[in-house]
Amino acid sequence: MNLLDFSFSQKDLIYKNLKGANSRSHIYFTFDDGPVDIYSEKLLDRLNALNLKVTFYVVGIKAQRHKDIIQRFISEGHSIGDHSWGHEFSYYFSSRSKIHQWISYSWEKLSDLLGQRPKGFRSPAGVVTPPLLKALGQLRIPLVLWNRRFFDTQFDIAKVNKTASELFQAGDIVLLHENGYPHRFESLNVFLSKYAGEIKKLGFECAAIQDYQLSQVR
Ligand SMILES: [Zn+2]
Repeated sequence: MNLLDFSFSQKDLIYKNLKGANSRSHIYFTFDDGPVDIYSEKLLDRLNALNLKVTFYVVGIKAQRHKDIIQRFISEGHSIGDHSWGHEFSYYFSSRSKIHQWISYSWEKLSDLLGQRPKGFRSPAGVVTPPLLKALGQLRIPLVLWNRRFFDTQFDIAKVNKTASELFQAGDIVLLHENGYPHRFESLNVFLSKYAGEIKKLGFECAAIQDYQLSQVR
């Protein structure tokens, strides 16, 4: 494999949205940093009530601690991706081989825990570095980022006042968090209730990311 081929294959591994034939009417809400006590279950109840399917980018050590919540994610039709084992930032400054070990460790452990392949890797804070891409390329693991975010850990997203048609397009991957900020939970509820309804009126559906989309969409 020459250098040109290699950089091409790395580019193919990055997904910032899922626009394409399989996402004509789908929007992909994703929730990072869980599972967390109490709030993951409340969020699941809310998602069920609104009939939304989403993807959870979970932190491995939290997933191991909350296997019951992971089982609910799966049995209730949501997808799960790998958000690293411990949400570490230190690996971004370490050697290529350490980054490789870091990713393969969480991928293998999480695959065992889920009983299925995670829906790609989402790096903590969405950081992308050449060594990270190289490791993902070698492991053939797609990097799933996002193209819409609302800074929900810092701002009151209940106050977002644009319409769904101004905010969302088919194939969008939307970044949200379930990181246990109780004071943010109510505003997340307001946000989800408002946009779930508007999204449906536009003829879109909130869907969970599936394996086949990560190998077909380029
Ligand atoms: Zn995170």
